[in-house]
Amino acid sequence: MTGGRRSPYLASRLQGLGTTIFAEMSALAVATGSVNLGQGFPDTDGPAEISEAAVRAIRGGRNQYPPGAGEPELRRAVCEHRRRFYDQNFDPDTEVLVTAGATEAVTSAVLAFCETGDEVILIEPYYDSYPAAVALAGARPRLVPLRPPTWSLDLDALADAVTPRTRMVIVNSPHNPTGRVLDEPELAALAELCVRHDLLAVTDEVYEHLVHDGRHLPLASLPGMAERTVTISSAGKTFSFTGWKVGWACGPAPLVAAVRTVKQYLTYVSAAPLQPAVAVALGLPDSYFSEAAASLRERRDRLCAGLEAVGFTVSVPQAGYFVLAGIAGVGRFGAGDADRFCRELPERVGVVAIPASAFCERRPDLAGTVRFAFCKRPEVLDEALRRLSGLRPGPDGSAPAGPEPR
Ligand code: PMP
Ligand code: GLN
Repeated sequence: MTGGRRSPYLASRLQGLGTTIFAEMSALAVATGSVNLGQGFPDTDGPAEISEAAVRAIRGGRNQYPPGAGEPELRRAVCEHRRRFYDQNFDPDTEVLVTAGATEAVTSAVLAFCETGDEVILIEPYYDSYPAAVALAGARPRLVPLRPPTWSLDLDALADAVTPRTRMVIVNSPHNPTGRVLDEPELAALAELCVRHDLLAVTDEVYEHLVHDGRHLPLASLPGMAERTVTISSAGKTFSFTGWKVGWACGPAPLVAAVRTVKQYLTYVSAAPLQPAVAVALGLPDSYFSEAAASLRERRDRLCAGLEAVGFTVSVPQAGYFVLAGIAGVGRFGAGDADRFCRELPERVGVVAIPASAFCERRPDLAGTVRFAFCKRPEVLDEALRRLSGLRPGPDGSAPAGPEPR
């Protein structure tokens, strides 16, 4: 996690959460005129038919509070989408909740399910909102590592993480920041653990359609899991509208009702006119989803090849829009410490990246690893690579000092 200074105003359970690394690094990108490969957002919008549907909804007067669970047409569209892609069946009236992005859905679920002092199993590296949600709930994280270079789930550590206080597990697959898609044996181990210890599962599947190698399998589709899983996703990544913050949670009616109880006091409802537009998006033909993934795969390959040529040690991601890269082979500045490297990189070469430590509590093995986003136009990736080429090792293989600060 990013840490951050002690605030005299923040409650003790929230000390150290500070400002997210994404906000901090995006501000640094603006201040230094850097190419921002830090925070994960595309630099082009999604299909015009989706934004036109939102404009129509605004002009058509769909601007007042929607129903608490979300607009019925969006809830129906979520159910049809889950049926089309995963053969899962949810009742739009009782088993779907529309939220302010996946973030609110995850946080509401943790707040709904956890007593103070309960434990939540998180996979490390983790998306940064999970430990924050656990802290908000007064619960405690138990971390289970993904191990490089394959980023496979440490199943022994998983088994050891369960205690009598364990309430739930949060599973993010496809995974940010590693790009790992958990495979069937890993999902089966998670399912078996949840069933054996009567744990709830919350899945974050926001990268479900951005799979480059392999296949995404929802945890809820494994035996014994449908009745104990809240499945979460959102429109941001799939349709390239990250600023809309429309997400959803699906699961058994009693679990979704508990999540709704929290959501109704956090935000009550979300973004009325964007909901019919996301319903249109979810109904797009299969070709939209495969083409979006294919376009991203090309950009993944472009950035990964370029980073390798510069001297980074690249871990090619199976999914999502981030690549992790080791910095040992590039520039001596930062002294192998990815935090320092990322703080100095904008000034030195005009590129922003995120240190992997932002997704970890204690992972010395990832201290020299940074994350780059490739959800950008090819020419933007090329410009970032051109700037990063100043870090390329010398002909004798020696690492250069790196360019002087600009
Ligand atoms: N989960 C993961 C794993 C993410 O990477 C992100 C970042 N976009 C989110 C959730 C946030 O999703 P949303 O914007 O829908 O809240
Ligand atoms: N999910 C995005 C990322 O990982 C960031 C979203 C945010 O800034 N909260 O970069």
